[in-house]
Amino acid sequence: MEPWVSDLLAWYRSRERPMPWRGHPDPYAVWVSEIMLQQTQVETVRPYFTRFLAAFPDIPALAAAEDEPLLKAWEGLGYYTRVRNLRKAAQLLMAEHGGTLPRTVEGLRALPGVGDYTAAAIASICFGLPVPVVDGNVARVFARRNLLDGDFHKPAPRRALADWLTPHIAASGAPAAFNQAMMDLGAQVCTPRNPRCEDCPLRPTCQAAEQGRQADFPAPPPAKALPERTGAALLLRDARGRLLLAKHPGDRLLAGFWELPDPDALPFPKPKRTRRLGLYRQTFTHFRLTLEIRAAKPLPDSPALPEGFCWADDPAALPLTTAARKILAAHAASTPAH
Ligand code: SF4
Repeated sequence: MEPWVSDLLAWYRSRERPMPWRGHPDPYAVWVSEIMLQQTQVETVRPYFTRFLAAFPDIPALAAAEDEPLLKAWEGLGYYTRVRNLRKAAQLLMAEHGGTLPRTVEGLRALPGVGDYTAAAIASICFGLPVPVVDGNVARVFARRNLLDGDFHKPAPRRALADWLTPHIAASGAPAAFNQAMMDLGAQVCTPRNPRCEDCPLRPTCQAAEQGRQADFPAPPPAKALPERTGAALLLRDARGRLLLAKHPGDRLLAGFWELPDPDALPFPKPKRTRRLGLYRQTFTHFRLTLEIRAAKPLPDSPALPEGFCWADDPAALPLTTAARKILAAHAASTPAH
């Protein structure tokens, strides 16, 4: 066993966090806790875990659970697919495994709702199998300790890290403690921002801490190349000083919001002369938008408008797209009402 492994275990044993599921003799309880912890903080899970086990104390009880009490016991924890999968898995265990959890990673992994992480957690904690848990927290610890560059959102770098950890967890002789130590270290010490290196058992061998480069690891995922969309936004007033607005067409995100119209899509002939005021840029989740901002002289009249357009006395009183709001804030003075 390498010294960092014994340091990790000694650290874990000296400060073990009491949790109702830790040290629980029943694999069923560990399984329930791991499913609850998938998207939820330890402190939130605590009371739910106790109540759930009181309501459904074992696999047969869970397999036979009715919808209403089951959802009630999970109410407030969210991600309800988790509890539905839990019952589905319990029914499968009753039908095919004699009502007990399989004692292999593959068997656990085959249960609904059980991924690599949860299978490794149950296998190590309940059955002492040397299978490392690797999630974002654990990846961060070892990306820093070993100066690893990979994008740990992807399966390949996670698998490579799991392969590297496997002989160490095997040599530790204490897979349950090893994995739980890594979980605690990632969640509480080697935090995304301001890791507490002075309290970390891996400090003596941590290369990022040695080089003061904790913030460089793990590397952020590469920025996606977003498609570019371009367009134009026209500032145009009528004879009464009202601003022309167009209703954004049926896009789920912006439907119903008002925006500055595209000069090529006006409901009346386009003004002969417009002048360029600048560019507006905005990044959305799925694309980058660049609008050329143009202004025209106020019209001599107030043409009637079809649906989807309006002459706005007070644009700020309407729901505006961010682009319209920002362009107006920056350029309204360029198109004085009178
Ligand atoms: S020494 Fe600091 S950066 Fe390195 S693993 Fe520990 S907490 Fe993380």
